[in-house]
Amino acid sequence: MKCEVVAVGTELLLGQIVDTNSSWIGEQLALIGIDSHHQTKVGDNHDRMVAVLELALSRSDAVVVCGGLGPTQDDITREAIADVMSVELVRDEELVERIRAMFGSRGREMPQNNLHQADIPAGAMINPAMPGTAPGLICPLDGVHDGKVIYAVPGVPWEMKQMMTEGILPDLQQRAGITSVIKSRTLRTWGKSESGLAEELDDEIKRLDETGEATIAFLASGWEGLKVRITAKADTEAEVEAVLAVEEALVREIVGDIVFGVDDDTMESVLLHLLRDRGLTLGLAESLTGGLIASRLTGIPGCSDVFRGAVVPYDREFKLKLLGAPDVPAVSEEMAIAMAVGVCQTLDTDCGIAVTGVAGPEPHEGHKPGTVWAAISIQGQTEAILLNMPFDRERIRQFTCIAALNLLRTRLLAR
Ligand code: ATP
Ligand code: MG
Repeated sequence: MKCEVVAVGTELLLGQIVDTNSSWIGEQLALIGIDSHHQTKVGDNHDRMVAVLELALSRSDAVVVCGGLGPTQDDITREAIADVMSVELVRDEELVERIRAMFGSRGREMPQNNLHQADIPAGAMINPAMPGTAPGLICPLDGVHDGKVIYAVPGVPWEMKQMMTEGILPDLQQRAGITSVIKSRTLRTWGKSESGLAEELDDEIKRLDETGEATIAFLASGWEGLKVRITAKADTEAEVEAVLAVEEALVREIVGDIVFGVDDDTMESVLLHLLRDRGLTLGLAESLTGGLIASRLTGIPGCSDVFRGAVVPYDREFKLKLLGAPDVPAVSEEMAIAMAVGVCQTLDTDCGIAVTGVAGPEPHEGHKPGTVWAAISIQGQTEAILLNMPFDRERIRQFTCIAALNLLRTRLLAR
């Protein structure tokens, strides 16, 4: 069973949107063990779409087409598929009612344009998931490409994902006669390079190659760190979970506390959890990150029991005024520590994180851009680290956030 992906949209070709859909779909296909050898991008042009679909069907058993299912003139995926199937578009009255009801539930009239979305190739089925107004299509090609199938999904990523997960991946697995269960678990790490981590895990990866128990893959994610994904395959869900648990424990033993979380965990969600467990509150003094750390923390629902607030003293004068910092240079260990201690007093918290430094592009007080002091205070115990980051302004600020959160995380764990 081979399945390929066709992403539709002239914006993709012009570089106005990045085709993240194909990457995501490719990853999901690999995870369930379906071969995928080609991904194509094509503009909103009828003849070129038909040609791309024909080519895809000549070498694959299934094709996922994403995009161009909307209600406007340039949404012509339905027409192109109908041509490939050698059938007409027919209006599905049930679908008309579903789309009308969707508009109704938001207190709106259905525009006439949306009627087009109910015109589907004769013989096509509707994807069971329909989170938006664009129906996903499952189009059997018997008669033209026997046994093959085209799946059409909208370009909007969250709609596409739901249709893939609920309607398409299970259908593909069934067609491929796959009964085994494949699952993965992602360990989130921070603080080591890909090559460093690969070296540490080299022996384990070689061992897995020989035994075939599981596979390990690295996914670099910029300032969010490096993801280590463990994938295993077995006959039952319980067996897969058992293999993953054993392998996770092995990897953690090898790489140590650079693993900060699993799967959907983030540095901030993990830190909030640690603080909550210990009954500690947190305040921030953010100079060069200007509230970025606070923004990450407040992105987590329910953070208010732990996170009390942030002070953003950008000018040195306000570090003194708002945090009671002494008259020391703005970019210094003393200042970072004084800010961390000061914010605990100002906001009446158990813990404080403070950052101060040079975001660039110009040097400041004789320090290069990327010179940053991050300090923490845990019930009066303080510590500061000096970061030297040869990056641009955006990356300096983002790395500072994670580094500061990680400093508090590791020290809380060590207590
Ligand atoms: P709609 O009903 O919203 O018109 P559609 O099926 O016509 O859906 P498109 O118009 O192609 O889909 O895309 C809608 C939006 O989805 C785009 O503006 C873009 O933000 C996003 N999108 C489309 N294709 C992709 C892709 N391949 N990767 C990531 N995002 C995409
Ligand atoms: Mg559209």
